[in-house]
Amino acid sequence: MIDEARVGATVDNYRRIKDRVMEAAVKAGRKPEEVRLMCVTKTIEAEYINPVLDDGADLIGENRVQEYLGKKDSLHLDGVEKHLIGHLQTNKVKQIVGEVDMIQSVDSLKLAKEISKVSVNRGLVSKVLLEVNIGNEESKSGVSADCLEELVCGVAQLEGIKVKGLMTIPPICDENEARKYFSLMYKRFIDIRDKNLDNIDMEILSMGMSGDFEAAVYEGSNLVRVGSAIFGARRYF
Ligand SMILES: *Cc1c(COP(=O)(O)O)cnc(C)c1O
Repeated sequence: MIDEARVGATVDNYRRIKDRVMEAAVKAGRKPEEVRLMCVTKTIEAEYINPVLDDGADLIGENRVQEYLGKKDSLHLDGVEKHLIGHLQTNKVKQIVGEVDMIQSVDSLKLAKEISKVSVNRGLVSKVLLEVNIGNEESKSGVSADCLEELVCGVAQLEGIKVKGLMTIPPICDENEARKYFSLMYKRFIDIRDKNLDNIDMEILSMGMSGDFEAAVYEGSNLVRVGSAIFGARRYF
């Protein structure tokens, strides 16, 4: 049974968050359309995702290959961009290449090489972001800031991959602390962008989630990934 009240609340949340993202962009001196809102749909059933897509959401993020492949046919995905944002194991690459518009979570040359190989075999070029572990946390995936440049240079050589930018999840901390991490990320982003490397387009800086997306926008994010503030608390995951 669909919970109609939950559907209504979800669409309201989506509209409110969309407004807040645009307001944050304007406050940060940018155009409202310069910051994209991704709806993070992991663990959420299609019945609660589709009303948001029907209301105009045009970008979704999923964490798990299996979950996404299992529910994509029940989603209203016409004109919607799909990104994988969760950690990707090399042995799942074959299943996801060609199924999403971007893989935001590339954090090793080994993984990048596998994505490139599978993409070349299928006549594709996969768009990716490099995931940076900006807080150097042991529990988190992502390349450390110190090894980022080496990864960028390695990935730039791969013909089946196009790097479109960077992604991060900062340590859990208060908003002021988070802003420091976001600002560090922005510096890295600009440094790499200004090098004008072949095959590296630094266009997307993906950072900011339900609790800190405004802080991220103030520090230069142009893609925020919001889940629970739209769909409510996740029951598992
Ligand atoms: C779950 C998740 C999000 C969204 O988190 P919320 O706090 O629910 O907004 C964003 N990015 C990634 C990589 C995630 O796994």
